[in-house]
Amino acid sequence: MFIPSKIKVRLSLSVLFVQLFFLSSLPVFSLEIKELPDFDGKFSNYFSIFDNSQKETLPVPYYESDNSSQTQRGACEFSVTFINVGQGDSEFIVLPNCKTVLIDGGPSSSASSNLAKFLTGHNISSIDYVVLTHPHTDHFKGLQYVFDNLSVSNFYDTKVNNPSSSTLKKFRDTAAAEPGINIFYPVEGQELDWAEGVKVKILNSCSQESQTSQGEILNNCSIVMKMTYQNVSMLFMGDAQGETENLIADKYRDELRSDVLKVGHHGSSTSSSEKFLSYVSPKLAYISVGKNSYGHPSDATLGRLENIGARVFRTDRDGTSVFIPGDKIFYCEYPQQAGF
Ligand SMILES: [Zn+2]
Repeated sequence: MFIPSKIKVRLSLSVLFVQLFFLSSLPVFSLEIKELPDFDGKFSNYFSIFDNSQKETLPVPYYESDNSSQTQRGACEFSVTFINVGQGDSEFIVLPNCKTVLIDGGPSSSASSNLAKFLTGHNISSIDYVVLTHPHTDHFKGLQYVFDNLSVSNFYDTKVNNPSSSTLKKFRDTAAAEPGINIFYPVEGQELDWAEGVKVKILNSCSQESQTSQGEILNNCSIVMKMTYQNVSMLFMGDAQGETENLIADKYRDELRSDVLKVGHHGSSTSSSEKFLSYVSPKLAYISVGKNSYGHPSDATLGRLENIGARVFRTDRDGTSVFIPGDKIFYCEYPQQAGF
């Protein structure tokens, strides 16, 4: 299967040109960029088109291959890609300094997984910041592939151990053996210095050593982080459930407000409480979910998201989606042919 290796962003084009471009020379694997019709931001002439033709001169949303990247670093378009990894979680972020972040890796360490196809399809061979929200296989298995096949500079983990997982120790050993790796156990309240102009704040973590096989406790250990860039904010919840939501809602209150919410725990009914959502008040809500027997996402959660006025994206229905902040909020979707 052919997968596009170069995807680029073109900026500041007129509406007419955008329309002509799509009508006349739409590359087969272009992403379609859609403006949210009901977003109440001021109009902007910011447009993004992903296209293969002008990679040398344009800022890129994705970190390219190692050798071509150095000169391009420093001028990337901020983007968050919610990768369709099935029943699991994985978000790939490009920071404005062109450094890359991968939050979780989904449930498969196979080279034929959607995460692997996404990374190879974009010639991504190194990642600056890898985050494992919590040690469940649907989050760390795919990171095994990443550490086996890519180079990673910094790894953010919790100190909670999950003895019921037979592959966790091997994974953490692999991460620790990565040449030159820095391993961090971020604590609640800490801010991470990943890129100028980007605020990354840890709102929850389990940074003290502990051990449990109980799913709910592990979920509530999730590294929760809020990222703010310019006037757009994004909240990544991992699999945090009601207890953690309550804690951070009581502590951070209005500071939780975010334009984008990576919904906790695959849309489970035990996450995304009304109280929590009322503080976050997201415009876009991304649910990473695949075929499962847990009833994810639950109708109750979908209803609460609808009530708060969020537009919901689901990887099981919408596939891989990209979020690009701008004066207006844009989103785009990968075409089916891309294969992930
Ligand atoms: Zn999960």
